[in-house]
Amino acid sequence: MSDNVLVTGGAGYVGSHTCLALHDAGFTPVVFDNFSNGHREFVQWGPCVEGDIRSPQDLEQAFETYKPIGVLHFAALIEVGESVKNPIAFHENNVVGAINLISLAKKHAVRAFVFSSTCATYGEPQYLPMDEAHTQIPLNPYGRSKLIIEQVLADLREYSDFPSIALRYFNAAGADPESRIGEWHDPETHAIPIALDNALGLRSGFRINGDDYDTRDGTCVRDYIHVLDLADAHIRALKHLLAGNQGGAYNLGTGDGTTVKELLETIQDVTGKAFDAAPGPRRPGDSPSLVADKSKAFQELGWTPSRHLSDILRDAWAWHRKLRDA
Ligand code: UDP
Repeated sequence: MSDNVLVTGGAGYVGSHTCLALHDAGFTPVVFDNFSNGHREFVQWGPCVEGDIRSPQDLEQAFETYKPIGVLHFAALIEVGESVKNPIAFHENNVVGAINLISLAKKHAVRAFVFSSTCATYGEPQYLPMDEAHTQIPLNPYGRSKLIIEQVLADLREYSDFPSIALRYFNAAGADPESRIGEWHDPETHAIPIALDNALGLRSGFRINGDDYDTRDGTCVRDYIHVLDLADAHIRALKHLLAGNQGGAYNLGTGDGTTVKELLETIQDVTGKAFDAAPGPRRPGDSPSLVADKSKAFQELGWTPSRHLSDILRDAWAWHRKLRDA
């Protein structure tokens, strides 16, 4: 029988793709999700527990039933704009919920804890690309809620012999090339799916959130990374911890920055569909540029992304047409 790995938020976007990768790597992913944002259709590679990380009882039951050797923690509220409107909800889910989970993982002597963190913990770039030693001064409650948990995990590595890895994602994008799962948020706020809706004629016009940034064309620079490259990094992180390493924090990005305008051009190329885009105001909490220095993940986890922006957009386009039945 293969080893169980508890995957909170396993019915969500990055979580479900990591369940697929866990299955392919010979583990059994046990999804733990409250389905507030996750999708039941995405649970395809192992058992499912419906529960909430804010409830220690729900979590305790999952640990007792499945006795996981590792925990991959994805469950979180993730929208920067929402976090500015409702910081309490972000701290309840992303901080209180995570501490509940970490406490139980520790109590049940879990040997590996992998945390979904984010480049949003860095804030305003001091230099690019950003390495893991870059200052972490988040520009919004979302980033701060993730940084708090990174710091809790660092304390537990130092003082409590609780091994963990924080993976700082840059911009997760793309989908399973077989379109079994993909990006699906409701409401949708992310640039790529919104642009793809425009390509399908389901929206009329893409609003660029600010074109007066100090970047090469005035729009924000992001490092888009294929969700399956992220999933692969989780398997490596899990194995690294199971092999007895203490862990730490790692950037997960490609090292290539793309402006919003460049992204829109590439989307129009890949889809073969033209659509309108016009600048609007900046979005509160947005960093002008986020680009990863990925060398630490390569050196210590042997991880390197294998998919480019065109692969990301091709897979996202195939999935998006299926999702919209188009
Ligand atoms: N963006 C935009 N228009 C939109 C959605 C997003 O200009 O309708 C911008 C957003 O402000 C950011 C970039 O596209 O600069 C990527 O945003 P996304 O929400 O996809 O990811 P984030 O960087 O917030 O994690």
